[in-house]
Amino acid sequence: MMRERVRTVMRLAAAALLTAGAGAWALSVVVPPGCPAERQAVAADLAATLQEMTGTAVPVQTAATPPEGSAVLLGDEFAPAAVRSELTPERLGFDGYLIRSLDDDTLLLCGRREGGHMNAAYGWLRELGCRWFMPGPHAALIPRVAAPRLAGWDRFDRPAWVHRSLWYSALGRIKDEAPEDYRAATEELQQWLRRNRMATGVPVRFGHSFLRVLPAETYMATHPEYFAERDGKRVPDGQLCTTNEEVIRIFADAANAAFDEDPDLESFSLSPNDGYGWCHCPTCEALDPPAARGTEKDKADRVVTFVNAVARRVKEKHPDRWLAFYAYAGCVEPPTYADPDDNVLVVLAHYCFDDLRPIADPLSSANATFKGYVDAWGAVSEQMFLREYYGRYWALWPMWPAVAGDIQYLDERHFSGLNAELEYRSEGAEIGWYLTGELCWNPKQDAAALLDGYFAGLYGPAADDMRAYAEILREAAANPALRARGGMDEIPDLFPPERIARARAQLDLALPKAATAAQRFQVQRSIDAMEMIGAWYAMKAILDRQDGALDEAQQAALAKAQQAELAALERIRGYDLARYWSTQYKSAPLRSILEAAALVLGQTAIDPWDGLFRQDTFAHRAVSLAHMVRNEGLRWSGSVDDGYLYGSGATAAWYVRAATPITRASVEALTYDSNEPAGWMEWRLSFDRGTTWETVQRVDLNGWKRQTLDLTKQLAGRTDVVLGLAFAPGAGTRARLSNVAINIE
Ligand SMILES: [Zn+2]
Repeated sequence: MMRERVRTVMRLAAAALLTAGAGAWALSVVVPPGCPAERQAVAADLAATLQEMTGTAVPVQTAATPPEGSAVLLGDEFAPAAVRSELTPERLGFDGYLIRSLDDDTLLLCGRREGGHMNAAYGWLRELGCRWFMPGPHAALIPRVAAPRLAGWDRFDRPAWVHRSLWYSALGRIKDEAPEDYRAATEELQQWLRRNRMATGVPVRFGHSFLRVLPAETYMATHPEYFAERDGKRVPDGQLCTTNEEVIRIFADAANAAFDEDPDLESFSLSPNDGYGWCHCPTCEALDPPAARGTEKDKADRVVTFVNAVARRVKEKHPDRWLAFYAYAGCVEPPTYADPDDNVLVVLAHYCFDDLRPIADPLSSANATFKGYVDAWGAVSEQMFLREYYGRYWALWPMWPAVAGDIQYLDERHFSGLNAELEYRSEGAEIGWYLTGELCWNPKQDAAALLDGYFAGLYGPAADDMRAYAEILREAAANPALRARGGMDEIPDLFPPERIARARAQLDLALPKAATAAQRFQVQRSIDAMEMIGAWYAMKAILDRQDGALDEAQQAALAKAQQAELAALERIRGYDLARYWSTQYKSAPLRSILEAAALVLGQTAIDPWDGLFRQDTFAHRAVSLAHMVRNEGLRWSGSVDDGYLYGSGATAAWYVRAATPITRASVEALTYDSNEPAGWMEWRLSFDRGTTWETVQRVDLNGWKRQTLDLTKQLAGRTDVVLGLAFAPGAGTRARLSNVAINIE
């Protein structure tokens, strides 16, 4: 009370000074002493944004009580006792917030913890009209105001979805090659997530955990019965025997320990290991539907039974925490009788993609299958998250209607979390990211209105032309025969060169209408994207036709497309490292085609007998085949990003030459084979440049496996060898090879 009166007096004095022209009302952002660095960074960003809005300097002050003048107070330390008692979990959830005017000149922004304070700052700026449409420069809408209103605010807000996570996955491949670029791109994304209230969800764990909690190295020797029974034997590299009472006890103890240690931790993971390898002991099998016994599918009943058993033990000590698991691989299909307890969280992985359309769109059979999973799991589970995969093409990913439709559909079916891998950053993807942030916070929003705001805010007077451009990129959705599952081989059907050319022409109409430097930058960003993919098509058309040397006209056309490609990439690199590296990581299709063009144009040369080989030989089509010394009958599949090799009675081979005699040698590879008779392949060596071969090892394992084959014994002391891999006659795709690395010391 006393403080209030003093402040009023001081304010009158300040007003007097103002009329005397000696100064102006100062607006400041205030943080308490000892405030964490994370909040100081938010305060600095808040102050900088207010400064941009008002054109007046806005300092950040550190003070225990509000200073004189207009102030925005960031943190619950400033909340008077009566206000503090309103900051309840019921009102704010984990990371919701309060925007409250304490008086006409003093605004309190706070949550219950740091994440809430952060969201309060950006939530208030959002109320004032600020938007950050995508990570990176020139993507913000910051309205101009004389002075932001501090009076009359009283608003609680909290997110509908408690977990909202977007993260780069495939881009992690550049960690070794360009670590600084990787860090910069990741931080740029993080900053954008903070500004869109997506960086603060509840702490959760739901990753693959069986072997993490119960490592084979620790338990296999003494307790083989904990592990999966396969062909009558307990094995260390499968799943666990989840009906074993001790296994259930160990997981319950681990969950309790994790919850004891972290009072905020919302869920502990009981997710099976990645892949298959289920236990076939009679007790586990008895829990499966009869048709699934002895197979690797339909394990949801047994997994839910296990998770429930752990959840019941944990509930005694931690009744309000969740036990989580991935409904994924062998347990993605819903249970037939098991019903997850109310403290179980089901994290459903998105299978059966058709990104062109929302999952509720009946046009797509893939979506119909996944919608069946969603509906059935949603009918029995109290809480669910979606494990998503966004941006599955390096080239283009204009899939925002699916993103928006899915979140709204899932919201009505007990979903309250979204964890999306951003495999790449590509043209069109950012619209979906923006809608994700908005709709996971409040799924009741009108997605069409959000989209209008996106285009108007980002492009101004060029908005209509940019919408027309975006619609061209989505024309494939009108063709009911097309699906977007994420394979590279779909790109020419979804985005044919003719359509790319038309989209590029549309941008020429948009550019003159852009009114500000930021709007022109955004249109130019799309022009760069179209030039990038246009030049890729041009190079591909020439290289795909090539069955010998290029004639002069073809050479000139290839060189021209190559130069256009390099120029577009150079521009992109200047403002968007994530998009640049989405095309340039080791084994990226665009990098590969540029390397192939350089080879064909004679700018680089490869002599296979010179001992050149690539670590990622199978990842590139054109270049890796050029590196092989023998590739009879091989075929390449582009249906997964890195592709794989296969063939019938075919041999792949690499020539390896070492500068000094070899002391250690190994080859690592990802192999697939089926358990059919022709599903095998053989590693072979030739010491006479491929004339005669000796077999080292046959691969006949069933399923995808990463293997390391030690070749030290065979290669020690040598400097010269051809490593071969022969596929069985009649193998076809029953045997496949990918991700080869040859290690020589
Ligand atoms: Zn078992």
